[in-house]
Amino acid sequence: MLLEVNRLEISYGDVRAVHGVDFVVEEGELVSIIGANGAGKTSILNGLMGLVPARRGSIRFHGQEITAVPAHKRAHGGIRLVPERARVFPRLSVFENLLTGAYGLRKKIDLDGRLRWLYELFPILEERRDQPAQTLSGGEQQQLAIARALISDPRLLLVDEISMGLMPKLVDQVFDLLQSLNRDLGLTILLVEQNARASLEISHRAYVLETGSVVMEGPAKDLLNNPDIRKAYLGLA
Ligand code: ATP
Repeated sequence: MLLEVNRLEISYGDVRAVHGVDFVVEEGELVSIIGANGAGKTSILNGLMGLVPARRGSIRFHGQEITAVPAHKRAHGGIRLVPERARVFPRLSVFENLLTGAYGLRKKIDLDGRLRWLYELFPILEERRDQPAQTLSGGEQQQLAIARALISDPRLLLVDEISMGLMPKLVDQVFDLLQSLNRDLGLTILLVEQNARASLEISHRAYVLETGSVVMEGPAKDLLNNPDIRKAYLGLA
Protein backbone atom coordinates (compact mmCIF):
# COMPACT_ATOMS: atom_id res chain seq x y z
CA MET A 1 0.00 0.00 0.00
CA LEU A 2 1.42 3.40 -0.93
CA LEU A 3 -0.77 5.53 1.34
CA GLU A 4 -2.71 4.38 4.39
CA VAL A 5 -4.77 6.84 6.39
CA ASN A 6 -6.34 5.77 9.67
CA ARG A 7 -8.82 7.72 11.74
CA LEU A 8 -7.44 11.03 10.55
CA GLU A 9 -8.86 14.01 12.41
CA ILE A 10 -8.22 17.64 11.51
CA SER A 11 -9.47 20.62 13.47
CA TYR A 12 -9.07 24.37 13.32
CA GLY A 13 -9.50 25.49 16.93
CA ASP A 14 -12.98 24.31 17.83
CA VAL A 15 -13.96 23.61 14.22
CA ARG A 16 -13.66 19.91 13.47
CA ALA A 17 -13.21 19.66 9.70
CA VAL A 18 -12.29 15.97 9.35
CA HIS A 19 -13.80 13.43 11.76
CA GLY A 20 -11.59 10.36 11.73
CA VAL A 21 -11.46 9.21 8.11
CA ASP A 22 -9.92 5.98 6.81
CA PHE A 23 -8.76 5.48 3.25
CA VAL A 24 -5.98 3.89 1.24
CA VAL A 25 -4.29 4.44 -2.10
CA GLU A 26 -2.36 1.65 -3.77
CA GLU A 27 0.65 2.20 -5.97
CA GLY A 28 -0.56 2.89 -9.53
CA GLU A 29 -4.12 3.80 -8.55
CA LEU A 30 -6.14 6.88 -9.38
CA VAL A 31 -8.46 7.48 -6.43
CA SER A 32 -10.85 10.33 -5.80
CA ILE A 33 -12.51 11.80 -2.78
CA ILE A 34 -15.71 13.53 -3.80
CA GLY A 35 -17.79 15.81 -1.64
CA ALA A 36 -19.66 19.10 -1.50
CA ASN A 37 -18.39 22.51 -0.42
CA GLY A 38 -16.95 22.37 3.07
CA ALA A 39 -16.96 18.56 3.29
CA GLY A 40 -13.30 18.62 4.35
CA LYS A 41 -11.56 17.69 1.09
CA THR A 42 -8.92 20.43 1.12
CA SER A 43 -8.27 19.78 4.81
CA ILE A 44 -7.52 16.13 4.05
CA LEU A 45 -5.02 16.97 1.31
CA ASN A 46 -3.38 19.67 3.42
CA GLY A 47 -3.17 17.14 6.24
CA LEU A 48 -1.52 14.58 3.94
CA MET A 49 0.97 17.18 2.76
CA GLY A 50 1.69 18.29 6.33
CA LEU A 51 0.40 21.84 5.83
CA VAL A 52 -2.10 21.41 8.65
CA PRO A 53 -1.49 19.10 11.62
CA ALA A 54 -3.45 15.91 12.27
CA ARG A 55 -5.29 16.20 15.56
CA ARG A 56 -5.51 12.41 15.75
CA GLY A 57 -4.95 9.38 13.59
CA SER A 58 -2.12 8.24 11.39
CA ILE A 59 -0.77 8.67 7.89
CA ARG A 60 1.57 6.00 6.52
CA PHE A 61 3.41 6.48 3.25
CA HIS A 62 4.97 3.32 1.78
CA GLY A 63 4.96 1.79 5.23
CA GLN A 64 6.46 4.73 7.10
CA GLU A 65 4.63 6.71 9.70
CA ILE A 66 4.70 10.33 8.46
CA THR A 67 1.96 11.87 10.59
CA ALA A 68 4.39 14.20 12.36
CA VAL A 69 6.88 14.68 9.50
CA PRO A 70 7.14 18.31 8.28
CA ALA A 71 5.79 19.24 4.86
CA HIS A 72 9.13 19.80 3.12
CA LYS A 73 10.30 16.33 4.13
CA ARG A 74 7.08 14.79 2.82
CA ALA A 75 7.67 16.66 -0.44
CA HIS A 76 11.21 15.33 -0.62
CA GLY A 77 9.85 11.87 0.11
CA GLY A 78 7.75 12.03 -3.05
CA ILE A 79 4.37 13.53 -2.08
CA ARG A 80 3.42 16.55 -4.16
CA LEU A 81 0.33 18.76 -4.05
CA VAL A 82 -1.31 20.63 -6.88
CA PRO A 83 -3.18 23.18 -4.75
CA GLU A 84 -6.65 24.58 -5.29
CA ARG A 85 -6.49 27.49 -7.79
CA ALA A 86 -2.93 26.51 -8.75
CA ARG A 87 -1.14 29.00 -6.42
CA VAL A 88 1.76 29.59 -8.78
CA PHE A 89 4.21 32.34 -7.82
CA PRO A 90 2.70 35.24 -9.78
CA ARG A 91 5.82 37.33 -10.36
CA LEU A 92 8.21 34.50 -11.09
CA SER A 93 8.48 33.37 -14.68
CA VAL A 94 7.01 30.09 -15.83
CA PHE A 95 10.52 28.61 -15.93
CA GLU A 96 11.32 29.84 -12.40
CA ASN A 97 8.04 28.40 -11.14
CA LEU A 98 9.01 25.03 -12.62
CA LEU A 99 12.39 25.19 -10.90
CA THR A 100 10.75 25.77 -7.51
CA GLY A 101 9.33 22.24 -7.85
CA ALA A 102 12.84 20.80 -7.94
CA TYR A 103 14.25 23.00 -5.16
CA GLY A 104 16.12 21.18 -2.43
CA LEU A 105 15.57 17.70 -3.87
CA ARG A 106 18.08 15.23 -2.53
CA LYS A 107 17.53 12.53 -5.06
CA LYS A 108 19.19 13.06 -8.42
CA ILE A 109 16.91 14.01 -11.26
CA ASP A 110 17.87 14.82 -14.82
CA LEU A 111 16.55 18.37 -14.68
CA ASP A 112 17.08 19.16 -18.36
CA GLY A 113 15.44 15.90 -19.35
CA ARG A 114 12.47 16.51 -17.05
CA LEU A 115 12.06 20.05 -18.45
CA ARG A 116 12.12 18.74 -22.03
CA TRP A 117 9.51 16.12 -21.11
CA LEU A 118 7.30 18.72 -19.39
CA TYR A 119 7.55 21.11 -22.35
CA GLU A 120 6.44 18.27 -24.61
CA LEU A 121 3.53 17.52 -22.31
CA PHE A 122 2.61 21.22 -21.93
CA PRO A 123 3.84 23.06 -25.06
CA ILE A 124 2.24 26.31 -23.87
CA LEU A 125 4.64 26.40 -20.91
CA GLU A 126 7.61 26.40 -23.25
CA GLU A 127 6.06 29.17 -25.33
CA ARG A 128 5.48 31.19 -22.16
CA ARG A 129 8.62 30.16 -20.30
CA ASP A 130 9.97 33.67 -19.66
CA GLN A 131 6.65 35.36 -18.87
CA PRO A 132 5.53 36.06 -15.29
CA ALA A 133 3.15 33.29 -14.24
CA GLN A 134 0.46 35.86 -13.43
CA THR A 135 0.07 36.54 -17.16
CA LEU A 136 -1.11 32.96 -17.80
CA SER A 137 -4.80 32.08 -18.09
CA GLY A 138 -6.44 30.04 -15.35
CA GLY A 139 -6.11 26.82 -17.33
CA GLU A 140 -2.47 27.54 -18.13
CA GLN A 141 -1.76 28.22 -14.46
CA GLN A 142 -3.28 24.81 -13.63
CA GLN A 143 -0.96 23.23 -16.18
CA LEU A 144 1.98 25.04 -14.61
CA ALA A 145 0.97 23.84 -11.13
CA ILE A 146 0.80 20.24 -12.38
CA ALA A 147 4.13 20.57 -14.19
CA ARG A 148 5.77 22.11 -11.11
CA ALA A 149 4.65 19.08 -9.10
CA LEU A 150 5.75 16.60 -11.77
CA ILE A 151 9.26 17.99 -12.21
CA SER A 152 10.35 16.25 -9.00
CA ASP A 153 9.20 12.82 -10.27
CA PRO A 154 6.74 12.31 -7.38
CA ARG A 155 5.44 8.98 -6.11
CA LEU A 156 2.07 10.37 -5.12
CA LEU A 157 0.34 13.35 -6.71
CA LEU A 158 -2.36 15.07 -4.65
CA VAL A 159 -4.70 17.21 -6.73
CA ASP A 160 -7.05 19.69 -5.07
CA GLU A 161 -10.19 20.67 -6.96
CA ILE A 162 -8.49 21.08 -10.30
CA SER A 163 -11.79 21.73 -12.10
CA MET A 164 -12.51 24.84 -10.04
CA GLY A 165 -12.99 27.90 -12.24
CA LEU A 166 -12.18 26.13 -15.51
CA MET A 167 -14.40 26.11 -18.58
CA PRO A 168 -16.01 22.69 -19.23
CA LYS A 169 -13.75 22.08 -22.23
CA LEU A 170 -10.65 22.69 -20.12
CA VAL A 171 -12.01 20.49 -17.34
CA ASP A 172 -12.19 17.62 -19.83
CA GLN A 173 -8.66 18.32 -21.03
CA VAL A 174 -7.12 18.41 -17.59
CA PHE A 175 -8.95 15.23 -16.51
CA ASP A 176 -7.78 13.47 -19.68
CA LEU A 177 -4.26 14.53 -18.82
CA LEU A 178 -4.51 13.17 -15.26
CA GLN A 179 -5.90 9.91 -16.60
CA SER A 180 -3.05 9.52 -19.05
CA LEU A 181 -0.41 10.35 -16.41
CA ASN A 182 -1.89 7.53 -14.36
CA ARG A 183 -2.55 5.01 -17.13
CA ASP A 184 0.47 5.58 -19.33
CA LEU A 185 3.11 6.56 -16.78
CA GLY A 186 1.81 4.70 -13.74
CA LEU A 187 1.66 7.85 -11.61
CA THR A 188 -0.38 7.35 -8.42
CA ILE A 189 -2.93 10.13 -8.03
CA LEU A 190 -5.34 11.16 -5.27
CA LEU A 191 -7.89 13.73 -6.44
CA VAL A 192 -10.34 15.66 -4.35
CA GLU A 193 -13.23 17.10 -6.31
CA GLN A 194 -16.65 18.66 -6.23
CA ASN A 195 -17.04 17.68 -9.87
CA ALA A 196 -18.10 14.13 -9.05
CA ARG A 197 -18.87 13.05 -12.58
CA ALA A 198 -15.56 14.08 -14.13
CA SER A 199 -13.51 12.59 -11.32
CA LEU A 200 -15.46 9.31 -11.08
CA GLU A 201 -15.14 8.84 -14.83
CA ILE A 202 -11.35 8.67 -14.64
CA SER A 203 -10.90 7.05 -11.20
CA HIS A 204 -10.46 3.43 -10.23
CA ARG A 205 -11.98 3.90 -6.79
CA ALA A 206 -13.56 6.71 -4.83
CA TYR A 207 -14.62 7.81 -1.37
CA VAL A 208 -17.61 10.03 -0.68
CA LEU A 209 -17.01 12.61 2.02
CA GLU A 210 -19.85 14.32 3.87
CA THR A 211 -19.19 16.84 6.67
CA GLY A 212 -15.81 15.36 7.47
CA SER A 213 -16.73 11.65 7.33
CA VAL A 214 -16.47 9.00 4.65
CA VAL A 215 -20.05 7.83 4.03
CA MET A 216 -19.48 5.57 1.04
CA GLU A 217 -16.62 4.02 -0.90
CA GLY A 218 -16.16 1.67 -3.79
CA PRO A 219 -15.13 1.23 -7.40
CA ALA A 220 -15.78 4.48 -9.27
CA LYS A 221 -17.99 2.64 -11.80
CA ASP A 222 -20.28 1.39 -9.03
CA LEU A 223 -20.57 4.87 -7.54
CA LEU A 224 -21.43 6.33 -10.97
CA ASN A 225 -24.34 3.87 -11.13
CA ASN A 226 -25.41 4.21 -7.50
CA PRO A 227 -28.88 5.83 -7.31
CA ASP A 228 -28.03 7.88 -4.18
CA ILE A 229 -24.84 9.21 -5.74
CA ARG A 230 -26.60 9.93 -9.02
CA LYS A 231 -29.20 11.97 -7.20
CA ALA A 232 -26.96 13.78 -4.71
CA TYR A 233 -23.80 14.31 -6.74
CA LEU A 234 -24.56 13.84 -10.41
CA GLY A 235 -27.85 15.75 -10.63
CA LEU A 236 -29.62 12.71 -12.11
CA ALA A 237 -32.85 11.12 -10.98
P1 ATP B 1 -14.38 23.43 -0.66
O1 ATP B 1 -14.76 22.50 -1.74
O2 ATP B 1 -15.40 24.51 -0.42
O3 ATP B 1 -12.98 23.94 -0.73
P2 ATP B 1 -13.62 21.38 1.22
O4 ATP B 1 -14.38 20.11 1.11
O5 ATP B 1 -12.29 21.43 0.61
O6 ATP B 1 -14.51 22.57 0.70
P3 ATP B 1 -12.38 22.30 3.62
O7 ATP B 1 -11.81 23.52 2.97
O8 ATP B 1 -11.47 21.22 4.00
O9 ATP B 1 -13.57 21.71 2.74
O10 ATP B 1 -13.18 22.80 4.93
C1 ATP B 1 -13.80 21.89 5.83
C2 ATP B 1 -14.41 22.68 6.98
O11 ATP B 1 -13.37 23.27 7.76
C3 ATP B 1 -15.31 23.83 6.55
O12 ATP B 1 -16.40 23.89 7.45
C4 ATP B 1 -14.42 25.05 6.68
O13 ATP B 1 -15.17 26.20 6.96
C5 ATP B 1 -13.51 24.67 7.84
N1 ATP B 1 -12.19 25.28 7.71
C6 ATP B 1 -11.30 25.10 6.68
N2 ATP B 1 -10.17 25.81 6.89
C7 ATP B 1 -10.33 26.45 8.07
C8 ATP B 1 -9.52 27.33 8.85
N3 ATP B 1 -8.30 27.68 8.45
N4 ATP B 1 -10.04 27.80 10.01
C9 ATP B 1 -11.27 27.44 10.42
N5 ATP B 1 -12.09 26.61 9.75
C10 ATP B 1 -11.63 26.12 8.59
